[in-house]
Order: sequence, then structure tokens, then C-alpha cells
Amino acid sequence: MTVDDLYRDLHTNPELSFEETRTAGIAAVGLRTAGFDVIEGIGVTGVAGVLRNGDGPTVLLRADMDALPVTEDTGLEYASSAPGVMHACGHDVHVACLVGAARELAATRADWSGTVVAVFQPAEEVGRGAQAMLDDGLFEKVPVPDVVLGQHVGPAPAGLIGAHSGAAFASADSIDITVHGRGGHGSRPETTIDPIVIAAAIVGRLQTIVAREIAPQETSVVTVGRLAAGTKNNIIPENAEIGLSMRAYSDEVRLRMLAAIERITRAESAASGAPEPMIEFAESFPVTVNDRVATERTMGAFRSAFGAEAVIDPGPVSGSEDVGLLATAVDAPLVYWILGGAHPETYLRAANAGTVDRDIPSNHSPRFAPEIQPTLDRGVAALVTASREWLRR
Ligand code: ZN
Ligand code: ZN
Repeated sequence: MTVDDLYRDLHTNPELSFEETRTAGIAAVGLRTAGFDVIEGIGVTGVAGVLRNGDGPTVLLRADMDALPVTEDTGLEYASSAPGVMHACGHDVHVACLVGAARELAATRADWSGTVVAVFQPAEEVGRGAQAMLDDGLFEKVPVPDVVLGQHVGPAPAGLIGAHSGAAFASADSIDITVHGRGGHGSRPETTIDPIVIAAAIVGRLQTIVAREIAPQETSVVTVGRLAAGTKNNIIPENAEIGLSMRAYSDEVRLRMLAAIERITRAESAASGAPEPMIEFAESFPVTVNDRVATERTMGAFRSAFGAEAVIDPGPVSGSEDVGLLATAVDAPLVYWILGGAHPETYLRAANAGTVDRDIPSNHSPRFAPEIQPTLDRGVAALVTASREWLRR
């Protein structure tokens, strides 16, 4: 099957996080056919393939496999056939490109020496897949890499490559807070501890974290996206719930923000004489940091292969990723780049009109539809070019 056909097939058959069994099976067959040794079921549905080809460095290539709970609205003939599930983040592009790159590296193995490790990771969207593979002993099953490489398709002109040295993707934490009060009659507040008033004070005070505790030149966000309490106007409820998310571009800022959220939540509860609140940390993505030296080296290889105009530095991206865990777990440098997937002329028209944000569907949109070409060819070539830069010639 060509990479294009493989992509269409994956797009039609998306699978949610940790349920990527069909996708994992296709990846395993692709790797085995190319001559890789394959290990399946790492971190539930993860797959790793190893191609040993003499002495030299070990390169790890990573693709994530999961889709999202989104109802597709692209009108494509190869649109999702799974109700309410869609490859709206383009992980199908990543899988197809990594299968293509594995084939090409295997077919050209006379030209290089070293070891290629291809990792198909589950559950990136919930921030747990990379950790699940590590917890399941990934690096006891495959050689420890000298560099970790990967790519994410996004709404830039198809074929364009963007990489940023240093903090490239934000950390993201999702936190659920339950404020405990003491319920009672709305006419007799003196017999209660009102969790709604406490929650309101917490929400207001959380706004001071970014404004008053973080340096102005640091980029960070705290958003309360969910606030729920009560059933009737004259009942003071027992509890109130706050759902918030936060993003930062350094571990230092992230930890400072997490500590501030916890401190404010506990202090506002204590100020009202309420019981200890419950603070639960749900999804969590660390900051994704591209190694400066390794990124410059890889970008140089891209410029030589694709031309200087095809490679840009997009600056830090506000999205989040868990690919960095695979690198930090073994202290290897990470190089993770953006692969443009938007129709070039449509993109140019929107850019000239200043309407890119409106006209180019972003990742997670029900209309996210990367161009198949030149995106896939460039995605395969980028993985191969980056690998060959690190492998021995
Ligand atoms: Zn993604
Ligand atoms: Zn995503």
C-alpha cells in the first residue's frame, strides 16, 4: 500500500486514546514487512520496531496514533467512518509518514549504519501514552537512543517545516478542584459554609497568578473553563467544582503556578472556615524542549535537503505534547518539528487577507483536513533526512 493510501485508510478508521489496536496492527505489519524487529503492546497499544544495521548511533523516530472525540465535518470521500471519532489532530499523517520513512530507511540501509527505532505511541491526546510506554519498560525492550526525532502536522503551508530551539511547546495541566462547604437553607447562611462564595473568591484570585506572580516576559495562562455548584436558588450547596487549565513555557514557571493554585485554593477555603478542598491533577503535559545544538544540526540538514525557504522558526507554540518524556527519560536530545499541511494557495490568500486564524482549520477542528501532497512526501523525507543526519554514513 502506498503511503497516500495508508493515510486515507487510517483517516477513515480513527481510534481513541489507548484503543488504537487497528492502527497499531497496521504499524506493526508495516515495520515487519520493512525488516524491523517488532514489539507490540508496549503501554497498552504502543508498538516499537528496531532495525539494527551495524555500528553507529541510535535514532528514535516517534509517531503518535490516537484520534479525538470529534465528529468530522470535512466532506472528504475518505472521512471518518467511526461515529464521533476523527483524526482531527493529524496523527494519521504521523503514522503514515513513519511507516513510509521506516520502509525508505530499510531500503537504503547500504548507505548508512547504526540503529533505527520506530515508536508508534498511543494516547498522546490525553497526555498519558508516552509515560505508559516508559512505565512498560520501553527502553528495556529497545536500544536507548542518541536522539529523539518526531513531527506534528499543523496549519502551515503544506511541506513547510518549522522548528524552534528551546521551549517549543507549552506545558499544559488540567486541574479539578472541589470546594467543600456546608449546605443549608438559603435563608439561614449563618448555619452554612457557602462553597459558592469560596469558589467565586478562588476564581477571582486565580487571575492574580499570571498578573502578579509571574514575570511579564514569561508567557503563561490560567483559564477556569468549568464552574459548577448548586441545584436551586434557595439552597446553599455542599460543594462547588472548579475545572481549570494552565500553560507555561518553563518548568520553573509551571511549578510556581501549580503551587500558587494550590495555595490560593486552600487559603480561600481556610478563610471561610471550610473543610480542606480536594485538588486533583488530571491531564498533564511537561514543557517540550528542543535541544538547541541538535535542533540546529537537524534544521541544517533540512535546509540542505529542501531549500532554506522551506524551513522556518515558528517560535514557541501554545499547544502541548508528551513526546519530550521519551527524550528526558534517557537524557537524549529532542528535535520535534512542525510539518505544514495546509493548501499552499489557500494559505497564501488567507495570509494576505489576514484571515489565517479563521480560514485555515486548526488541529482539533472538525474541518481539519491536511493536504495529502506535498505533506506526506515531505513528512517522510523529513524523517529520513533527520535520521540520516544522525546515522553514520
Ligand atoms: Zn496532536
Ligand atoms: Zn491534538
